[in-house]
Amino acid sequence: MKTLVFLEHYGGALEKGGLGVLAKAASLGDAVGVVVGESAAEVAASAGAFGASRVYACEAPELATPLPQPRVDALATLVEQTSPDAVLFAASVLSADVASGLAARLDAGLNWDLTDVSVKDGELVGTRPALGDTVVVDVGWKDGPKLGMIRSGALDPVESGGTAEVESFDTTFSDFSTLATLVEQTKEESSGPSIEEADIIVAGGRGLGSPEGFTLLEELAAALGGAVGATRAVVDAGWYPYSTQVGQTGKSVSPKLYIACGISGAIQHKVGMQGSGTIVAINKDPNAPIFDFCDIGVVGDLHQIVPKLTELVRSRG
Ligand SMILES: Cc1cc2nc3c(=O)[nH]c(=O)nc-3n(C[C@H](O)[C@H](O)[C@H](O)COP(=O)(O)OP(=O)(O)OC[C@H]3O[C@@H](n4cnc5c(N)ncnc54)[C@H](O)[C@@H]3O)c2cc1C
Repeated sequence: MKTLVFLEHYGGALEKGGLGVLAKAASLGDAVGVVVGESAAEVAASAGAFGASRVYACEAPELATPLPQPRVDALATLVEQTSPDAVLFAASVLSADVASGLAARLDAGLNWDLTDVSVKDGELVGTRPALGDTVVVDVGWKDGPKLGMIRSGALDPVESGGTAEVESFDTTFSDFSTLATLVEQTKEESSGPSIEEADIIVAGGRGLGSPEGFTLLEELAAALGGAVGATRAVVDAGWYPYSTQVGQTGKSVSPKLYIACGISGAIQHKVGMQGSGTIVAINKDPNAPIFDFCDIGVVGDLHQIVPKLTELVRSRG
């Protein structure tokens, strides 16, 4: 099984999501990476530690900005030249556009929203939650190349310590691929780690009572060196940014510690955080569903408990 994994990079480093997919692909067979854009060749080699035997790098002025269509051209060229059995992506706004563009270009099947991949009877099989994440189904492909997109945060970037050969390749760009231009790109400012990267997440829901309630969580997260997450109910209400939403229609996270404050534990939230190491729930309702699957449950008012917890952490730090 030869798998090509699309690796995004930012600020001189490969993104964790793609490295998680790469590590998984390497556990199933031969995994090769592809990095495109500015400094692609420079960052490509670091993929070796996550199981890539080889990494293809393509740099061209058309690839300098993170626009999807020139990347579709580059990947289509590489698929034609190297004939992988599968091409896998870690979900992101850019990858979603590139993967769907590549599927259209190659007339290939794309399985979306996978949480895992495996090989059964020599065939690649994807794991995909369905029916509002209440069931998990196996999905396959009729023929190749098999394109798959894995949910953000679903796979751990496990280091295996190898080295990768970096090979540069050239591509040509279709006229229509270079018609879009990037007007502006901004990066959200944040003082701590993102929820995808953090080992500790302090997450809040409607039980916070108001947007101001998030200050309590930010203080606790800062004391613990963690990040703040949120439920869909509160991001929909405009209390906190969408980028922090955990769950079925948000991000899947798997920190070592997840502290859920004023969160009921709806199934759509649970599917995004159930992979966390230790789940602590603070909720004033002893019958809240979250108490059915947390490791430590505290029944009480978060407005009293969270500040005390922050004080305690600070006093020990
Ligand atoms: C298709 C679909 C997709 C969805 N996707 C997502 C998703 O990605 N992520 C997501 O989170 N949701 C998602 N939802 C919404 C989900 O069903 C729930 O509505 C949502 O998770 C509830 O958010 P919540 O826990 O903040 O609010 P609530 O369910 O209202 O819970 C608030 C909790 O706070 C407790 N509380 C109140 N006051 C206090 C206090 N002072 N101290 C302590 N506890 C207190 C209450 O007892 C209650 O349990 C989705 C829904 C649908 C239909």
